[in-house]
Amino acid sequence: MSTALEGGCACGEIRFRLTSEPLFVHCCHCLNCQRQTGSAFVINAIIETDRIELLAGEPRPVDVPRGKTGKQRIFRCATCQVAVFSRYTRASTRFVRAGTLDDPSRVAPDVHIYTRSKLPWVTLPDSVPAFTTYYDPKELWPAASLERLAALRGSKARR
Ligand SMILES: [Zn+2]
Ligand SMILES: [Zn+2]
Repeated sequence: MSTALEGGCACGEIRFRLTSEPLFVHCCHCLNCQRQTGSAFVINAIIETDRIELLAGEPRPVDVPRGKTGKQRIFRCATCQVAVFSRYTRASTRFVRAGTLDDPSRVAPDVHIYTRSKLPWVTLPDSVPAFTTYYDPKELWPAASLERLAALRGSKARR
């Protein structure tokens, strides 16, 4: 890895640096992500919360309904309201919106999920796994990422 991945919001109030490569990168085509982004999909770089170093600003958490029952906490710049990352179930990981990186080409999807609602004009490459809904990380994540995840979960999953 050459230089650390850095990113931020549109107005520059929020700046962050990822202190390692992400665990895995999701491209999610679900209806929630489409609505939240107003676009065809979201690119989420999953990383341990403590590997996001805030260089400037304090992202403000906003709870956003997700589906009929779920909630998702989206962290936004208080000034320009750009969403920089979100939290799903686990507090120990964040889903960094890869489009907020200064160089978004530094990450690419490792998997496409919820392709059942993928927009018909989006063509996916054969080289990247794609699932109509979700998938089993144990089958897809590199060993090093699974170990990092196990470390987060504590002794239960530790080998
Ligand atoms: Zn901002
Ligand atoms: Zn989604």
